[in-house]
Amino acid sequence: MTLIVDLRSDTVTRPSPAMRRAIAEAEVGDDVLGDDPTVIRLQEKSAELLGKPAALYVPSGSMANGLSIRAVCEHGDEIICSSTTHSYNYETAAPAALAGVSMWFIGDERGMFHGRDIGPAIRAKNSHFPNSRMVIVENTNNRGGGAIWPVAQVADVGAACREHQLHLHMDGARLLNACVALGVPATHYTRHVDSVSLCFSKGLGAPVGSIVAGSKEFIARCHRFRKMFGGAMRQAGLLAAAAIYALDHNVERLAEDHANAKFLAERLAEMPGIRLDPRSVQTNIVIFGVDPRLGTAADLAARLEAAGVRCMAAGPQQIRMVTHLDAPRAAIERAIVAIAAVCGAQAAAA
Ligand SMILES: *Cc1c(COP(=O)(O)O)cnc(C)c1O
Repeated sequence: MTLIVDLRSDTVTRPSPAMRRAIAEAEVGDDVLGDDPTVIRLQEKSAELLGKPAALYVPSGSMANGLSIRAVCEHGDEIICSSTTHSYNYETAAPAALAGVSMWFIGDERGMFHGRDIGPAIRAKNSHFPNSRMVIVENTNNRGGGAIWPVAQVADVGAACREHQLHLHMDGARLLNACVALGVPATHYTRHVDSVSLCFSKGLGAPVGSIVAGSKEFIARCHRFRKMFGGAMRQAGLLAAAAIYALDHNVERLAEDHANAKFLAERLAEMPGIRLDPRSVQTNIVIFGVDPRLGTAADLAARLEAAGVRCMAAGPQQIRMVTHLDAPRAAIERAIVAIAAVCGAQAAAA
């Protein structure tokens, strides 16, 4: 098999030659001792981008979320969020294991909810119940197919959280996808939340790392727990340089990934056995249903892999494809031909 394109995730992107030059030339120091100038620059740049007083560079998005939860919650607290939330599904139960919290689910299958949903989800003050402490919104919502939170809806949830004195965290792993799609600065969202995380290693194309931003006190607590969780790194400026390069060069181009995802979705929707409304595709994630006559999602993914298109099963009868900077339009076009051949042959045989 020759690989046509890898659409498993936007995490598969590799540093470009120019990004590697930025890495090679980075000025570094010992960031655990607080003197890596490139990490400091990234943190300042990110704080400004996100409109928060302080920011902290961390090894992964999971750690950004985990630190945020640990910094805010005590053991026995509860987080209100969607059941689609990354922290619940893909972080090995870290909220329970590392912060001792439970989760209470609200919202729809794309991960969206409203301010009015918060009040009824809050536990009564009573010695039997967990303490409701925090709300998480995920923007864009990964399991929800890259769905974008409307800014006004985040504002509405933010107002409800202030009213009920709950900390609002935005898992903004792909926040900049939402911002580029809507044409708004990140601050339009982040002024409504207490803390926000952002991944550099997804569509932005950096090899490693995420940022978490919030108040000075919040970031001071995250800084302490980053050390406790083993995420304090020494000459991390090599990695931070890639993140700075990504912020300077790879943000506006996310629009190309969105256009490619839309194009891919429109072609997929025409294929036999694929269930997809292309209008549901808002950013760079395409999730589609697989008719049983094409087999299970895992079967189809294996046949697509053999035909040179890598993707992932997102459920027993669901496949996810993600566009990114190492999947240019020409590769997507070739992938479409290969996918159509696989689905067409299978549908004819069934
Ligand atoms: C990828 C992702 C993360 C973090 O993932 P890591 O692999 O730990 O960097 C967090 N939230 C969402 C929504 C994600 O898609």
